[in-house]
Amino acid sequence: MKKTIVFILLCVFISLTVISSYSLFTGNALNNKLTTGDRFLVFGITIFLFVYYLKLDKNPQYAHATINTEKKENPQNPNEFFTKPKITFEDVAGLDEVKEELIEVIDFIKKSEKYKKMGAKIPKGILFYGPPGTGKTLLASAVAGETKSAFFSASGSEFVEKYVGVGAKRIRTLFEKAKKEAPSVIFIDEIDAIGAKRHLDSNNEKDQTLNQLLVELDGFNTDNTVVVIGATNRLDLLDEALLRPGRFDRHMFIGNPNVKAREEILRVHTNNKPLASDVNIADLAKKTHGMSGAHLSNIANEAAIIAVRENETLITALHFEKAIERVIAGLQVKNPTIMQREKEIVAYHEAGHALIGKLLSTDMVQKVSIIPRGQALGYVLHMPQDDRYILTREELCNKIMVMLGGRAAEELVFNHLSTGAKDDLKKVTDITMQMVCEYGMSDLGFLCNEPSMLKGLTQEITQEINKIIEQCYSSTYEYLKLHRSYLDTISEALLERETLNFDELNELVGQLPSIKKPLKETNKELAVV
Ligand code: ATP
Repeated sequence: MKKTIVFILLCVFISLTVISSYSLFTGNALNNKLTTGDRFLVFGITIFLFVYYLKLDKNPQYAHATINTEKKENPQNPNEFFTKPKITFEDVAGLDEVKEELIEVIDFIKKSEKYKKMGAKIPKGILFYGPPGTGKTLLASAVAGETKSAFFSASGSEFVEKYVGVGAKRIRTLFEKAKKEAPSVIFIDEIDAIGAKRHLDSNNEKDQTLNQLLVELDGFNTDNTVVVIGATNRLDLLDEALLRPGRFDRHMFIGNPNVKAREEILRVHTNNKPLASDVNIADLAKKTHGMSGAHLSNIANEAAIIAVRENETLITALHFEKAIERVIAGLQVKNPTIMQREKEIVAYHEAGHALIGKLLSTDMVQKVSIIPRGQALGYVLHMPQDDRYILTREELCNKIMVMLGGRAAEELVFNHLSTGAKDDLKKVTDITMQMVCEYGMSDLGFLCNEPSMLKGLTQEITQEINKIIEQCYSSTYEYLKLHRSYLDTISEALLERETLNFDELNELVGQLPSIKKPLKETNKELAVV
């Protein structure tokens, strides 16, 4: 409002300045009435308004009393600030160790008197951290559901405001309401938006909001059965003050589910869906390695949608297969217009990935396809057979070689370098960078640091990265050259059928000899990987 008034005034005074200048040059009737003082006054006010208007935009403004600092209340639903979730731990699959840890908190909320008598304080701050979609929000609402508490859910970004004091006031209001409704659970998602480390050049508004959060966390006493749960994908960004004992001192890592947890999650998300007898949930869990709970729930939903689209009454294994492909590789491009020559290049590129994958027995190649999906003209779906937590240098090199298989095949067959390997090269560079800078797997030794911290060694790091990639590439190229007939067979089959699944691929390359040993014996240079 203030800005609008200043803007209108500025426009008026600019017009007056123009009119008075015009009258001075033309010498019209107005010129005789205006003195030099009048002109200077008009000009001065215009400059002042102009500077003031610019400043208004830059400086944060202190909140005016009338600025609404709360979420608007819905007259029909005065409880809009909180909900009473019906979700319980039964709806949260896997995560057994986290649930076990939370049972104590639940007991505290349910039987708070027992603890109060002993003078014990409720563990007030719990921090969930880990990759997105792993069930952090779900767990927090299950804590509220299990204890029949009021669930106050907010996102850190809701407290980030331009006006100094507004974010802090929102925090105050949130805690006041939660205390009033106790027992209650306050869940702050993306807490890094307000709880990030403070610096000298920090933003005044953000600091005030964080300070208010710290004050509120300190302000609880034993009478308040209020639990605060924060969630973040980046624990390393949070301010130390937030993590110290008495605040968010219980940190729980919520990671991507392992095969058993994936199976349980898939069961939770399919138990209300009509499944055909050929659907094997344990098998699906194996095929969805590395996926989060959110991905899995999405796959179950996509499979149901595909079944409806195909007018089926049951969801079949094929529907799930399509759903997995949809989630991993993106939407299938309808009526793609790809030239025959480019199709051949894609077929050899994908065949190169698949053949190297088979030769090195890295991950299980589930499917190879040259049907465009999303931005990719073709793709290979491969999944590790087991959940792996430790990889050796050799295994990492094998992964790199599978990724380089596409480019090497193109070079071998067409003798060209194309843009098709862009994504592969990015992934290869990322893995190799980690090998050099984090895993101590290069001739640079056991250095383990962020590349940006190793400023003086940029050139050496680049050399090491290139060395590893080049070694892997030349081995890949040689493997493909040695097994060129298989490469041709797979790409021809791809051009004919467009997609090859696990069994079809095995049929084509079933007699594939183990190439690792002969190569190592015959060519010492290739044995480095
Ligand atoms: P973000 O960090 O992006 O906020 P999040 O970790 O909070 O994500 P949720 O919002 O809790 O993830 O999970 C998204 C969805 O994924 C849930 O609504 C649920 O359908 C499904 N999901 C995730 N984990 C599980 C699980 N362990 N059991 C059952 N469903 C799950």
